[in-house]
Amino acid sequence: MNQELLFSLLVDLHLDGDRQGPGSIDTTLRALASASCDTSSQLNIADIGCGTGASSLVLAKNLPNAQITAVDLFPEFLAVLEKRAEQYGVSESIKTLVASMDALPFSENSLDVIWSEGAIYNIGFKKGIELWRPLLKKGGILAVSEITWLHPDPPKEIRRHWKTEYPEIATAPDKIKQLEDAGYDLLGYSVLPPSDWQENYYIPTQTRLPGFAARHPGIQEVQDLIAMEKHEANLYEKFKDWFSYGFYVVAKR
Ligand code: SAH
Repeated sequence: MNQELLFSLLVDLHLDGDRQGPGSIDTTLRALASASCDTSSQLNIADIGCGTGASSLVLAKNLPNAQITAVDLFPEFLAVLEKRAEQYGVSESIKTLVASMDALPFSENSLDVIWSEGAIYNIGFKKGIELWRPLLKKGGILAVSEITWLHPDPPKEIRRHWKTEYPEIATAPDKIKQLEDAGYDLLGYSVLPPSDWQENYYIPTQTRLPGFAARHPGIQEVQDLIAMEKHEANLYEKFKDWFSYGFYVVAKR
């Protein structure tokens, strides 16, 4: 499928979602607690690959003095985020920015916190943690979720799936070593529970599929995308003991 069509279909499918990937308010708050941010100071935060703002809104509510730049490649998501920020009464704390996460326009040493949930895989974890580090102040926080094996030696079927979809998948000790080698110290690690995937992401996405199909009748790519979404949800159900998102909270050394 050509990339432009895929992107526009993905935006159409996910625009009405509260989130565009697995996660939850509790998970964001747990990561925030391990970051031990000074809630009274005017933290300069970037939420990278923010979608319609699931985590940006939680951060804005809980860090009332922070200035959050919510960054995404797709202005459609950011327009929804802006409306939601108004509804939540946090518009003053959030500004949006259309940019690609591999070409961020922030100055070096300017950010107190980089937040990124379910998004760094778009450029790859290793590349992302290296590219973003210079933008953080010394001691600044990176809070990032990344697909992670929960145990070594997963079954062949799921190993094969991830080998094609995202070969960077690895165990938490491997990811933590990458972070340490890239110049970060670990502050916290947690695993997204199944409800973050199923109740909060796959089930709401499945309920939007009929409407999505009806908006694009007779388009093979739409059927392919729907089949892919279902396949992924089934694989998660079958192999949820073997992989999840790990949430890594680290400080720039
Ligand atoms: N953080 C949100 C969205 C996760 S989905 C949440 O947890 O709900 C991944 C997000 O990354 C999508 O919103 C997608 O539009 C965005 N994205 C994909 N490629 C990107 C890129 N190169 N630069 C910035 N954002 C990108």
